[in-house]
Amino acid sequence: MSEPTGVTQLREMLNAARHGVVFTGAGISTESGIPDFRSPGGIWTRMAPIDFQDFIASEEARREAWRRRFAMQDTFGAAEPNRGHRAVATLVRRGIVSAVITQNVDGLHQASGVPDEQVIELHGNTTYAACLDCGERHELAPIRAAFERDGTLPRCVKCEGLVKTATISFGQAMPVLAMQRAERETLAADLFIVLGSSLVVYPAAGFPEMAKYNGAKLVIVNREETGLDRLADLVVHQSIGDTMGDAVGVN
Ligand SMILES: [Zn+2]
Repeated sequence: MSEPTGVTQLREMLNAARHGVVFTGAGISTESGIPDFRSPGGIWTRMAPIDFQDFIASEEARREAWRRRFAMQDTFGAAEPNRGHRAVATLVRRGIVSAVITQNVDGLHQASGVPDEQVIELHGNTTYAACLDCGERHELAPIRAAFERDGTLPRCVKCEGLVKTATISFGQAMPVLAMQRAERETLAADLFIVLGSSLVVYPAAGFPEMAKYNGAKLVIVNREETGLDRLADLVVHQSIGDTMGDAVGVN
């Protein structure tokens, strides 16, 4: 049985790679049933995101942010890693991929078995919360229980600072350490694989360009065309799970 040429070519590129880096966007997680908030028709085109400054300044904005977060939990909190995530985790385990840079906040790479220290989250993580002052991690379950009991908004258990999901909100600075790590990995890559990102949101979209101009092979797997297709060595406009699963040999 013959397979699509993209899969064969991708497998050969993976076999030749010494330092692979994977870059993921919403498209890999939509295959787990998590909606793409930024897409046309996505939640953020119907309901404006809460700006970071508003979250800081307004108790009402914080209340709305938490209300939305817990509503989201009920809709797709049970989402699990899919074949694409499993293929990526397998490449990390085999040592072919050294880091996964992600625009996603769903924690599904970690859930699929990629060690924490090999996931670089450019937009943070929504599966837990953190103090905006001291960074102390807070779990969501007790925050939700208090919120639903009497509307209590969370304060840091250590310093009384404001607690927010550990995501990077609109209007919030990009995380410096994550950006530095992503750049270091990008410059070390000889193979850079983009999965499910339309590559329109900068600065994130700058990483594939940086990899390519630094001499890496660039692969893009995305349902739709991206802004960098013309630059890529291989472009596959197919399902990420099927393409990666077939190329890596993972179900
Ligand atoms: Zn604190």
